[in-house]
Amino acid sequence: MYKCNQVRLQQTIEHFSQFGATENGGVTRLSLSKEDILARDYFKECCEALGMKVKIDDMANMYAVLPGKKDLPPIVMGSHLDSVVKGGRFDGVLGILTALEAVRTIIDNDIELDVPLMIINFTNEEGARFDPAMMSSGVITEKFEKDVMLQSTDKEGTTFAQALAQSGYEGDVTNRLKNALAYIELHIEQGPVLEAKGLEIGVVEGVLGMVCYEIRINGQSNHAGTTPMSMRKDPMLVASKIINYLHGELSKLDEELVYTFGRMNVKPNIHTVIPNEVVFTIDSRHQNREVMKQVENVLLALQDEMDGCTVQAVKLWGRDTVHFNSVICDEIEAACQSFGYSSHRMYSGAGHDAQYVASVVPSAMIFVPSVDGKSHCEEELTSYEDCAKGADILLETVLTLQAKQSVNPTAITK
Ligand SMILES: [Zn+2]
Repeated sequence: MYKCNQVRLQQTIEHFSQFGATENGGVTRLSLSKEDILARDYFKECCEALGMKVKIDDMANMYAVLPGKKDLPPIVMGSHLDSVVKGGRFDGVLGILTALEAVRTIIDNDIELDVPLMIINFTNEEGARFDPAMMSSGVITEKFEKDVMLQSTDKEGTTFAQALAQSGYEGDVTNRLKNALAYIELHIEQGPVLEAKGLEIGVVEGVLGMVCYEIRINGQSNHAGTTPMSMRKDPMLVASKIINYLHGELSKLDEELVYTFGRMNVKPNIHTVIPNEVVFTIDSRHQNREVMKQVENVLLALQDEMDGCTVQAVKLWGRDTVHFNSVICDEIEAACQSFGYSSHRMYSGAGHDAQYVASVVPSAMIFVPSVDGKSHCEEELTSYEDCAKGADILLETVLTLQAKQSVNPTAITK
């Protein structure tokens, strides 16, 4: 077993934190912004200093390869260097920097590899500058059409195509990821579970399926002072009844089910006027397709008329749970046991590049604890000790997989 160098990892994280540093200790590093380009340039420099070759594909995804002795497809690590506005110093970048630390440790220890290793930086994972999230892992795995993505526009009116052309990171389509043996993405948990349970590593078995519905309620606008309560058709009162009702029904289904009423639009949204329309969303997530079906049944069974208002439940979108590769998950868990790090099998409630990569390459994820479960904010924090433990597990998993793979090329099956 090889331990990573915590001090060096900390220094590397601190160095990357300068690219887009914010006043309160976070980062704003929007995809293909000048801060992102600086981070990319430095990442490339670090990889080349280790003897890795860096290739770029047509979506500006970066691929750094450490050659192996055999001509085999690579084992891949990675994540994303971009952040949200006023995001943290760990989301995404940690998956790349722990991978870098793993490669540095391999080189320090003269470990000979049969299988090539690759580190990927996926472009525009956050979707914070260009919608949608996980854009470029989505394009190379045929979840999104590239032509449509090129037209995605940021707040300044710059299209993704323009940003790509100006970035200096528009590479060749032939460099896209294909035919890898495994993909392992280390990421901060972005939730409170590991910390609350006092655990060190999350073995991520998949990404939760989700549905998002819009509940549209229409009533009658009228004067807030002159209309007696008994003569109103008030969609806001109906909305509050429905939210309470849904909370009651959904909380009975499964204790791991989560649901959120995250957006509400009120028309005309004036304090002296009874609204004529209230539209709110419910986002719900669970790993089990049956439970998600039950959620949808509850939503679709809402009465279409309540207190004089019409009620409609409209599905905006949904995705099935993505299950990661069990062989890789077992290896991650075994690595935790070897190091004596406590671990916990779990599903990710948030989306990650790995969920798209999983459709073409056997994939899994490693989570490290988030202090107070916070992410996408400047307070986002994972202790350097926990970061280093994550790097140990990433390295150990990669080494075990490459040893197995070199003997038996079908050791990891989809
Ligand atoms: Zn992320």
